[in-house]
Amino acid sequence: MRVLITGAAGFLGSHLCDRFLAEGYEVVGMDNFITGHPDNVAHLMGRPDFRFIQHDVTNYIYVEGPLDGVLHFASPASPVDYLEQPIPTLKVGSLGTHKALGLAKAKGARFLLASTSEVYGDPQVHPQPESYWGHVNPVGPRGVYDEAKRFAEAMTMAYHRYHGMQTRIVRIFNTYGPRMRPGDGRVVSNFIVQALRGDPISIYGDGSQTRSFTYVDDLVDGIYRLFHSDRVEPTNIGNPNEFTVLELAERVLAQTESSSALDRLPLPEDDPKVRQPDITIARAVLGWEPRVELEEGLQRTIPHFRRLVEGHDAGARTLAGAADAAAPV
Ligand code: NAD
Ligand code: UDP
Repeated sequence: MRVLITGAAGFLGSHLCDRFLAEGYEVVGMDNFITGHPDNVAHLMGRPDFRFIQHDVTNYIYVEGPLDGVLHFASPASPVDYLEQPIPTLKVGSLGTHKALGLAKAKGARFLLASTSEVYGDPQVHPQPESYWGHVNPVGPRGVYDEAKRFAEAMTMAYHRYHGMQTRIVRIFNTYGPRMRPGDGRVVSNFIVQALRGDPISIYGDGSQTRSFTYVDDLVDGIYRLFHSDRVEPTNIGNPNEFTVLELAERVLAQTESSSALDRLPLPEDDPKVRQPDITIARAVLGWEPRVELEEGLQRTIPHFRRLVEGHDAGARTLAGAADAAAPV
């Protein structure tokens, strides 16, 4: 069995490569490094069951040989990244999804789309079941990501209905763990790096907004199960344990034994006030349940950031390839 994983040099894509390889799959990883980094797949290079192709998936995708699956994870994912790269984000969600679906169709492969809890926008239903259509501002700054993913879901369902393709859609909720970029701007990375350096913790707004944090191994396990299941409709995968941003800051400070102060900064436009997955379907259909709670997940994640903070300047953003990727817009 052989799968293509787009976004393979990113945080989630690289963990997914590890899991499929561990299960005996051959894996082709593809990435243009706009927000990912070769370091994330360096440990796989040279393996006979792994091949890496540097390519922008918004252009025609060519992969030699058979494929049984295409898992489309390529896309900037952190708000800081997609606000800096709005047009590449729209293109990878639309053109990139179209190319990845076309490749899967040509190869007779099963397709899995990495979608997001952001399709629910700033939700008016809480927690969010898959049946909720969401509350998204299409013309706000976050619209470039939210609408790209909503379009990608629509395109995936159209390929399923019109071409009879085997498709899967995972709606991923805030996930954290080793291999996140220290400068990616997401709340977990920011808080841990700030705490380790003794810098002020950047609380946006009053910190009462909530998120539900999933440890990467739990997420990957849910995706692996979904890929092998019969479920076509979108499926939430996320840990339903909900925290305010202030609670997260307190946990990070305690676990890093940091005395950083809290710094209040303006709340970004359209920042969702609450987010919590309803995982009734994942439980029932996939037999999936998150196992790693926040305290243990942070314990596994903090050493990754500690190494980077002690090794280099963690404030430096590793947007390798960003200039190239922006050129063809
Ligand atoms: P990431 O930025 O670490 O990884 C994304 C990868 O996609 C990067 O390596 C990037 O270089 C690559 N990429 C982007 N555009 C590309 C293109 N045009 N061609 C080839 N490669 C391209 O982000 P992540 O957290 O690993 O997210 C992976 C996927 O999961 C994304 O689709 C994201 O929307 C989705 N997701 C993630 C989360 C989360 O909490 N991490 C939540 C919801 C959805
Ligand atoms: N946030 C924060 N400080 C930071 C980064 C983020 O208070 O340094 C808040 C942000 O406003 C949001 C939450 O943390 O309410 C999660 O932000 P993140 O960028 O991780 O992802 P989102 O869930 O918004 O996509």
